[in-house]
Amino acid sequence: MRKNVLDLLPDELVQHLLELGEKEYRAKQILNWIYSKHTIDFSEMTSLSETLRVKLQETYQIGIPKILNKVVSVDGTTKYLLTLQDESKIEMVIIPNGKKNTLCISSQVGCARQCEFCATAKLGFTRNLDTYEITSQVFLAIIELGEEKLTNIVFMGMGEPLDNYENVVKAIRILQHDLCFNFSPRRITVSTSGVIPQISKLADTGLKLKLAVSLNSAIQSKRELLMPISKVYPLTELKKTLIDFRKKTPYRITFEYVMIKDFNIGREDVKALLKYLGDISCKLNVIKWNKVEDLPYETPSAIEIDKFISSMNVLSSAVTFRKSRGIDIDAACGQLATKNIF
Ligand code: SAH
Repeated sequence: MRKNVLDLLPDELVQHLLELGEKEYRAKQILNWIYSKHTIDFSEMTSLSETLRVKLQETYQIGIPKILNKVVSVDGTTKYLLTLQDESKIEMVIIPNGKKNTLCISSQVGCARQCEFCATAKLGFTRNLDTYEITSQVFLAIIELGEEKLTNIVFMGMGEPLDNYENVVKAIRILQHDLCFNFSPRRITVSTSGVIPQISKLADTGLKLKLAVSLNSAIQSKRELLMPISKVYPLTELKKTLIDFRKKTPYRITFEYVMIKDFNIGREDVKALLKYLGDISCKLNVIKWNKVEDLPYETPSAIEIDKFISSMNVLSSAVTFRKSRGIDIDAACGQLATKNIF
């Protein structure tokens, strides 16, 4: 199969071009066509010689996923069902918010982490996405947005990004490289269920990004019920790892907390959460549980949500209540399952 250019860092492209007997500066020209002009056809790269264009066409591709279906929510959130070259299906979501446009991307086909409350978990795990399958979601979103700017990227779609560590890290390097997508590290968030060894590894790479951790309960026994990963990587160890991560990286960690009725928003839950977060410089992002068919959970009432959030306000950390977006089209957090609606 021809190599996908969206898989390559500029240095690697230079290396390939030198092997083809081409000059180094051609790499910059090609990257400019791709990332500034959004050209995905080598024959349109008119600043290159005809021979080089043919050579590139034979060696490379700039494949992006096919849009199998697209649904737009009443709030403007757009969910895409995408097909990859091997016919695997993934989803990505574009969430507009004033001048901001956030793209939620997938890192795996399915997921292996089996969180009890999540729709993607029910699919099981098929495979990791390649680097280009991650970067090409961003490329596609930029084309889809047209005149509007893509401002933020969150790895909160299907999959556990840190279980696909190498490809995700390389994709982020490409997203941040100034000759490629040129995204500021502040605008890229990786959300994890808490894969401790990979969080430590990430801290040591020096790669800048925002880390979000799906906590969902600060009580070990409850978290184990919701998130089996917690049996392998318990809360106490997770906290130590995150404190160390925070020392090595410039941005505060965000904790995500899905509020589930009669499960994790009671008095003992509040107490445990305040204790767990009290001495970490972090942000807390709470979101209500979005309905997933066949799952035995319920969304709390507005009063219960208010009560829980106000009990969190004693924290010195910033507490935000993230409004669920795209609920009507099953595009909200945890609802991505490549089936419903489409
Ligand atoms: N595997 C990663 C990223 C994907 S899930 C992780 O666990 O962080 C992205 C976010 O959606 C997580 O914070 C998760 O807790 C949340 N989520 C999953 N199912 C949900 C649901 N039904 N309602 C609301 N949020 C959900």
